Amino acid sequence: MADAAHRTPGLTAHPCPLCGAAGCRTALSLPEARLASSDASRALEIAVCGSCGFVFQQGALDPGYAAFMRHAYESWDDQPLFAFPRKSEDNLAAAAMIARHSRPDASVLEIGSNRGDVLALVKELLPQASVLGVDPAAHSGLAVPTLRAFFAPELFASSFDTVILKQVLEHYADPRPMLAGARQVLKDGGTLYLDVPNLARILEGRTDAFLLEHAAYYTLSTLQGVLAGYEILEAQEAGSLRVAARKLPGPDGFALPAGGEIAAAEAVSGLARLVRGRERGQRILAAHAQARGRVVFFGAYNCFRALYRELSRLLDDCPRAVLDDALEAEREPVFGLERIAVPQAGDLVLLCSNNACVLGRMEARLRALGAGSGFAVLRPWSTILRADGTTSDLGA
Ligand SMILES: [Zn+2]
Repeated sequence: MADAAHRTPGLTAHPCPLCGAAGCRTALSLPEARLASSDASRALEIAVCGSCGFVFQQGALDPGYAAFMRHAYESWDDQPLFAFPRKSEDNLAAAAMIARHSRPDASVLEIGSNRGDVLALVKELLPQASVLGVDPAAHSGLAVPTLRAFFAPELFASSFDTVILKQVLEHYADPRPMLAGARQVLKDGGTLYLDVPNLARILEGRTDAFLLEHAAYYTLSTLQGVLAGYEILEAQEAGSLRVAARKLPGPDGFALPAGGEIAAAEAVSGLARLVRGRERGQRILAAHAQARGRVVFFGAYNCFRALYRELSRLLDDCPRAVLDDALEAEREPVFGLERIAVPQAGDLVLLCSNNACVLGRMEARLRALGAGSGFAVLRPWSTILRADGTTSDLGA
């Protein structure tokens, strides 16, 4: 990067996108992070604002990031993978919360609607509602009316009773232009629903959720800060943070959250543990591969693809396989790896998810298959359960 030479080591070139404080600290740095969708790589640097506690990807503020990501979003197509509408726990919880805080006959706009799963679920709950999506992905034959475009408020002649930003805000290091645009197309008194990955859970579980695709990470407190122009009606803290909020008259804005310095210190130490866990976990994988042990990737979706692209350089030419129990993932490309149903003695199984709840379920399933008595399980990047049944904390 051209401007890297002008940076003070450990401090970011950019001020905090939320509060404007200078001297945010780089707490995690991966020189060659990869996208799930291609082998394209880019430096990933996660910074923490010491004043407000905001955690953001500083490279996402560089010119060039938007163009780098644009292709990934336009070529996004997971349509063949899941039945429509996809009734995942997350989608169902989102649709239920949206319906609870919307008029029965609401006009609903979802920004970044992908193929419209959540809108279809909202429509099931609110049959009189009218739903519309806007998304740049190249889907065809969608069941929900969708404008194929990157969102801009100018696209819409009228405003909506409910606006949805599901898993959108984390893609912008500076969330304010997107929030201002969403506010512009939302009626006064209307409902904004948004959800983002929950930073507190990510740090607690030390999951590998720091991705090129994600430019900002929220706690409930920073999320409340960026929603200063709203009254929070309901907030849920699970793997995702979900918020339904009512638009108040007047301008939007950002309120500095209380306890920003404490949140910043927690984020810095959580990220340091994750960095240690990554290093140690990768050393364990490399040693296993060097001894010609088999590495089994459990899970075949996005997280697998990003991990595989990143880790395959450590694996030399050791045997590798995919353990894949998701029926609908049959068409998922798995880099030509052998698919297996059960690990064997001597395998090292790597859990491919960055969702703490999913990781817990995966571990439970592997225990039922004999994990810790014959094969080992690596949970990136928090723990290793060895074949002899002992467990270690990777970040200790
Ligand atoms: Zn800040």
